[in-house]
Amino acid sequence: MGAARRHERTRDDLANAGPVRTCAGCGEKAASSEGEVVRVVRGPEGAEGTGTLVAFDLASSSFGRGAWVHPSRACFEKAAKSGFSRAFKAPTKTDVAALSQAFLEAATRRVEGLLVTAKRLRKVAVGTDACFAALEAGAPCVVVATDAKSVIERHELADAISRGLAVSFGTKVVLGGLMGRDEVALVAITHRALGDEIKRTCRAAAAMTGSGSKAVWVSSEGR
Ligand SMILES: [Zn+2]
Repeated sequence: MGAARRHERTRDDLANAGPVRTCAGCGEKAASSEGEVVRVVRGPEGAEGTGTLVAFDLASSSFGRGAWVHPSRACFEKAAKSGFSRAFKAPTKTDVAALSQAFLEAATRRVEGLLVTAKRLRKVAVGTDACFAALEAGAPCVVVATDAKSVIERHELADAISRGLAVSFGTKVVLGGLMGRDEVALVAITHRALGDEIKRTCRAAAAMTGSGSKAVWVSSEGR
């Protein structure tokens, strides 16, 4: 991850937030490093020469021509209609439902990958008491299983939620699987960049699913 050059402040706040990208939906500029827009790449050829499909590249690791889009229904809709075809200079075939579905799947894989990376780097605290101690010591993020009912009443968690540090992801079994245990209700991330990226991704997914759905994603901080 290249650090943004900071030697010259400009009027534009985006200038200090890494590369500026243009959303293929609304056409507005956004800072990709802040996670405002997500990367989309050309996927496999669609049926009957109708154009190519698109795939999300949330780790920004794929080669080739990419496009950027705000993870929102409104921008997905516009991008599906014409924005991606323009950005890729080739017909693309997708719609808002397919894009939303693909985005949520990509976000799930991304968060799982980040959690596994954090564990491999030994930058996690697993289990309730260890997590609350890590938060006390400045951990930037705590991931709460959606079925972690026993910890929901704890004031330490309420505190983490009010400070915008908590996101909800997966079940206790899912988090347990990622951490190499049976069931895990809480995982604190003690690595700043990984923790921030997990929060960003969970919140973007939560915004997509909307608060009305019985989502796996619960944003702890209104956007
Ligand atoms: Zn947009």
